[in-house]
Amino acid sequence: MNRTSVRQRRYLTLAICTLVLSVLLFSVIARADEPYARSKDYDLQNVKTHLWFDVEQKKVRGEVTETISMLRDGTEKIKFDSVDLTIHNVTLDGKDAKFSTTDRELIVSLPSPSKGSERHDVFIRYEGQPKKGLYFVLPDKNYPNRPKEIWTQGEAEDTRYYIPIYDYPNDRTTSEMLLTVPAAWLTVSNGKLLGTKDEPDGMKTWDWKQSDPLSTYLISAVAGEFVEKKDTWRGTPLRFVVPRGDESKIDPTFVNTKQMLDTFSDRLGVRYPWAQYAQTSVNDFVEGGMENTSATTLTTDGLQNPRLVSESPSGSDSLDSHEMAHQWFGDLVTCKDWGNLWLNEGFATYFEHFWTEQKYGEDAVGYEFWRDQTQWFRNPRLFNVPIVTHDISDSLENSGNIYNKGGWVLKMLRTKLGDQNFFAGLHSYLETHRGQNVVTADLQKSIEQATAMNVDQFFQQWIYRAGAPNYNVSYAYDDATHQIKLAVKQTQKVEGMVGLFDMPVDVEIATSAGRKTYPIEVSKAEETFTLAADSAPFMVVFDKGDKVLKTLDFKRDAAALIYQLKNGETVPDRAEAAATLATPGIRDGSGVVAALGEAAQHDPFWGVRSESLRTLGRIGGADASKQILGAVNDEKPWVREVAVQQLGMFKDDASLGPKLTEIGANDTAYSVRAAALRSLGQIKAPNAFDLLSAAVKSDSPDDTLRDVGLRGLGDLGDDRAVPLLLQWAALGQPLDSRASAISAVATLDKKNKEITQALLLYLKEPYRDVKRAALFSLARRGDPEAIAPLEEMLNSGELPGGASTFLRAQIAMLKSQASGKPPAGEKTAVGPTGPPAPGAQNAAAQPSANAVGAQDATLDALKKLQQQMTEMNARLAKIESQLATPKAATEK
Ligand SMILES: [Zn+2]
Repeated sequence: MNRTSVRQRRYLTLAICTLVLSVLLFSVIARADEPYARSKDYDLQNVKTHLWFDVEQKKVRGEVTETISMLRDGTEKIKFDSVDLTIHNVTLDGKDAKFSTTDRELIVSLPSPSKGSERHDVFIRYEGQPKKGLYFVLPDKNYPNRPKEIWTQGEAEDTRYYIPIYDYPNDRTTSEMLLTVPAAWLTVSNGKLLGTKDEPDGMKTWDWKQSDPLSTYLISAVAGEFVEKKDTWRGTPLRFVVPRGDESKIDPTFVNTKQMLDTFSDRLGVRYPWAQYAQTSVNDFVEGGMENTSATTLTTDGLQNPRLVSESPSGSDSLDSHEMAHQWFGDLVTCKDWGNLWLNEGFATYFEHFWTEQKYGEDAVGYEFWRDQTQWFRNPRLFNVPIVTHDISDSLENSGNIYNKGGWVLKMLRTKLGDQNFFAGLHSYLETHRGQNVVTADLQKSIEQATAMNVDQFFQQWIYRAGAPNYNVSYAYDDATHQIKLAVKQTQKVEGMVGLFDMPVDVEIATSAGRKTYPIEVSKAEETFTLAADSAPFMVVFDKGDKVLKTLDFKRDAAALIYQLKNGETVPDRAEAAATLATPGIRDGSGVVAALGEAAQHDPFWGVRSESLRTLGRIGGADASKQILGAVNDEKPWVREVAVQQLGMFKDDASLGPKLTEIGANDTAYSVRAAALRSLGQIKAPNAFDLLSAAVKSDSPDDTLRDVGLRGLGDLGDDRAVPLLLQWAALGQPLDSRASAISAVATLDKKNKEITQALLLYLKEPYRDVKRAALFSLARRGDPEAIAPLEEMLNSGELPGGASTFLRAQIAMLKSQASGKPPAGEKTAVGPTGPPAPGAQNAAAQPSANAVGAQDATLDALKKLQQQMTEMNARLAKIESQLATPKAATEK
């Protein structure tokens, strides 16, 4: 699955995990409730489901026949996962069967204890109004033109909300899905469309059959007012399905599908394995994408507007390639339990990058990994948790390991094995375990069998244990011996699951005589390497080409970094130099700003130009802004966008106003115009209010300019914008615009109760984006009136874990602001589980009755809370800015 919404991803190349946040905060997260696979009583062999929908009531009615084969003697009851479904009747092999239900299960009695592998057909008639698993997106009186959509999301354990079924990955079944829907609708499900049949009353039944076994979380049903485009790839039907009205976005979004299928099939030596490949975009999807077997579901946020597609370096390729790669890694071979989920997600992430490499080249993929690396280290919670973990308390935070780090580890594995062995190992893994459930050891063994390379130590340090090396590096050149003494320390704290790493590292040394690369093996806490150099080096690159996931603390002077920025052979080497030049103490060095300006304008790869611009933005000052201005005509719109964004950081430089105004009016790319408008707001240019207000009223593809106008009016902090923002926040306005307007208006006129009241109303609306915007905005507005409604929402159990954690912290903060006292003790703070302890706020109101101990506890709790709030707010701000950026790529 892809937890990143594409709209967010477009801006950060930082693959999925970046996005983890939005998932964490709002979507129905794939929360693995069962970390270990179960012991099975039966093997599910086929599941034939027929669904009917009551759109008015948002209800589903179903009939399912499950063919099962018993796995042990003496079983008396067959258990199906089933949540909130009303079971009307059950037959066993055609005869009425005795059954009972609990809140999690349907239990069917066998007439006599099972013997051997006896088979049964269990027929279940049921109905329900699913809270999860199956979703209705419908028009209503406020949004009468929305297309009607019904779609499912099974991962992790939600198929049971609409089908009583064995619902854990460690079983595979063939399946058939019949969907009876209005005749004008379209449906998509797994496998092959066997046919359609007209029914009375203007209805039609679609019959889909998946003949190769899948795990039940990969079952999908989509139905509604969709349109499709059909094609074929090597004889396999392709379907591109979008909601009515989005037809023009099909081609720009899915332009590379066939080439991706070629690339993956050919490089893996395993042909795309399913009877069709359908890609269906749905509104309000709860994930970025979901790799349902042969029938991927995607968010409509990933659809590319034909008028904007040229503004992004690779469109929706990362999302599309991620989900497609899952058709092999996740669907053809499927993790046996959630503890091994990286076997799905790490591979899908890796193959996004592999696609980039094949399509856009070495520079582009090197840059993606370099950015993923930075991103991974930014979340310190990931460091102590291994990629494979069955500790359920890790699951919420561990996606950054499963996705980003998992992808990185596969990159390192490829380097270790070499291309031929790496792909031979993957081929063997896929073919050996085709149609099976796997654990990490299966991958190890397949690689070893196919290549005779032992990868145990590699897997131990990177997969089963946690962390990554933090290298501290320094060197001294001895002119007498013509040697460099390179001192390398591993400074990560060796404790718990984190150890020392044993990795090969390439060190490149450039002197007046030329450049040479020395392979060294770093394995100890501290060691010194002696390398030949004919003269004092201009540059020493540690881990040339960024082959090791690491942090690098390597003190170099400005001259060496400038040399590396200019002359580094690989993109990561140059990007690292650009980023390190922002270090205080170095950034003021002679020639730094000029060198960054030179790189920002002339580096051959756009990512290095972008990084140089970011460093200039961080350095600040008139010289830096001048250099940035030199780059606002870059040929790549996404580099221009970065340049213009950086200008927004020069808050006291009024001279930037006219140039930004000109760009905001005239740039050929909407994304760049939008960034210029936003920057005008950020520097509080005198004309910003008028320009942003005008942008709100303008029309542009995907409302790019309107959204940035709304957000920018929030940045500007000018309360005159309140009426316009409230107008666009109101019910009935386009939902995207409303979300922007809500976030913006919440930051203004903090005493205005009318705004708080409006936000409280929005919180109760059914529209996902509006609700999310209202939730975040209310929590941050600081009005104590929000406390009670937010607590009500928290206690409703409606929010997933991450959002609850965030919200609990925000509520504690609101309370502390209201009382003028620090937030209450640990019990009220932001533990990931459980509501605040009753009476906890009273405890806060009467602090320190027990003197020092209690005070310490409160202080500790406060510290913890503040730290968590800081992290959350940083992440939130990032997400918001990603959400805010109009649809076009900036940073990819
Ligand atoms: Zn995925």
